[in-house]
Amino acid sequence: MQVHAKRIHILNGSKSYSLDGPVIYWMSREQRVQDNWALLYARQLAGTTRPLVVCFVMSPSLMCASFRQYDFMLKGLKEVADNLEKISIPFTLRIGPPDCEIVRLANDIRAGVVVTDFDPLRNVESWQKNAASELHVQLIEVDGRNIVPARIVSDKQEYAARTIRPKINRLLFEYLEEFPKLKPQSAMPPDLAKPDWDAAYRAINVDRSVLPVELSSGENAAHKALASFVDDRLKNYAEKSNDPNEEATSVLSPYIQFGQLSAQRIALDIAVTGAGDSQDKFLEQLIVRRELSDNFCLNNSDYDSLNGAPDWAASSLDDHRDDPRLYTYTLEEFDKAKTHSILWNAAQNQMCQTGYMHGYMRMFWAKKILEWSVSPEQALKTIIVLNDRYQLDGSSPNGYVGALWSIAGLHDRPWKKRPIYGAIRYMNERGCRRKFKVDEYISRWNR
Ligand SMILES: Cc1cc2nc3c(=O)[nH]c(=O)nc-3n(C[C@H](O)[C@H](O)[C@H](O)COP(=O)(O)OP(=O)(O)OC[C@H]3O[C@@H](n4cnc5c(N)ncnc54)[C@H](O)[C@@H]3O)c2cc1C
Repeated sequence: MQVHAKRIHILNGSKSYSLDGPVIYWMSREQRVQDNWALLYARQLAGTTRPLVVCFVMSPSLMCASFRQYDFMLKGLKEVADNLEKISIPFTLRIGPPDCEIVRLANDIRAGVVVTDFDPLRNVESWQKNAASELHVQLIEVDGRNIVPARIVSDKQEYAARTIRPKINRLLFEYLEEFPKLKPQSAMPPDLAKPDWDAAYRAINVDRSVLPVELSSGENAAHKALASFVDDRLKNYAEKSNDPNEEATSVLSPYIQFGQLSAQRIALDIAVTGAGDSQDKFLEQLIVRRELSDNFCLNNSDYDSLNGAPDWAASSLDDHRDDPRLYTYTLEEFDKAKTHSILWNAAQNQMCQTGYMHGYMRMFWAKKILEWSVSPEQALKTIIVLNDRYQLDGSSPNGYVGALWSIAGLHDRPWKKRPIYGAIRYMNERGCRRKFKVDEYISRWNR
């Protein structure tokens, strides 16, 4: 079985496509061996005679990321290396600027072609752009993240879930196919240094005070987490997924974020459960909402700025910019959970302690940051810094979209006007009390 041609996008079409030389899979967003369209495509190009090597380049620092996320990533990559070794595909780990390192590797082994993952975020896009121009050979992107490839589902920024949903649904049948199994390598690969994991840990140059959390990392753990969700919790999803005290959501977002689990695998497994409303509601989040985030980041380079807000929301926030605030906090006060609201502090604590905040609380948490910051710009900065520092699933299109949805009306509509919020949808603790047992949540996370 061949990888669907529409998942494939050549990033430097003017470069030559060589039929000789090794194939490099430059792994970045999809850190897994199974169910990985880019790796399958690289394997397809290698065929029986050309060697295939997999390379991951670790950039020692990334914007707001912390040691917690690097640790999760490196543990997952170790498993990738071990699993590739079992099928005779060498894995090499490089450390440094990803664009330079991948070009160096391609030149060293006289690669014939480089395949990489689709990623709409600015830093990766710029590495890919530089590599595309420096490489002597083709750099080919494969979208293994979205079930319906982001470049295919729409060629513009979609207005809301209701506009992208029919486009996804129209194409879903064509793309939601079973994955072929990755075949072991048959050609003789070039000799490459084994990954030096200790050197990688030493090279990490981010905030080391944010410690790893208990969640097990890697493809194997991700598949176990999926199975346990399907067996034990999916049935409650429709009714209880908005209750932060219930463990009714999947908590798969860290595995999806690091590409340790493919959303397509999750969708395939969920789609046969016959779990009625829970199945439908879950697939709406996993497919429509998640792919809407990639659509936004791909088509709007202001995805992490208020310039990315719809016009109605930006002007409404502006109209209310000088409204008096009852409370204002700095980034440090928010970070240390030192607000007057014990519910807000509990949500911040859940995130800091576990690397995961329940989805319902993320909305409340972000909206209150808007209400208690000196300006919407400062609020957005606080949300992004804290989200990307503590959440395992941070630094992702979902995070930037979640932030702009909460405080800047993205993919939403105008609501009744209020101080500070303007026409942005409002949330308060009283609303939370109507939805779930707030005191239970507070006592669990404010210990
Ligand atoms: C302020 C704010 C910040 C957020 N930050 C992130 C983030 O950094 N990373 C992240 O992955 N998600 C983020 N989200 C979206 C959502 O809250 C999380 O994806 C979800 O809570 C993850 O938990 P789960 O895996 O148990 O979700 P489940 O409810 O089990 O959903 C399954 C999957 O569907 C996707 N999904 C669910 N809800 C959404 C949504 N609203 N938008 C897009 N995709 C969704 C996720 O991939 C999720 O893992 C944020 C939302 C808000 C409001």
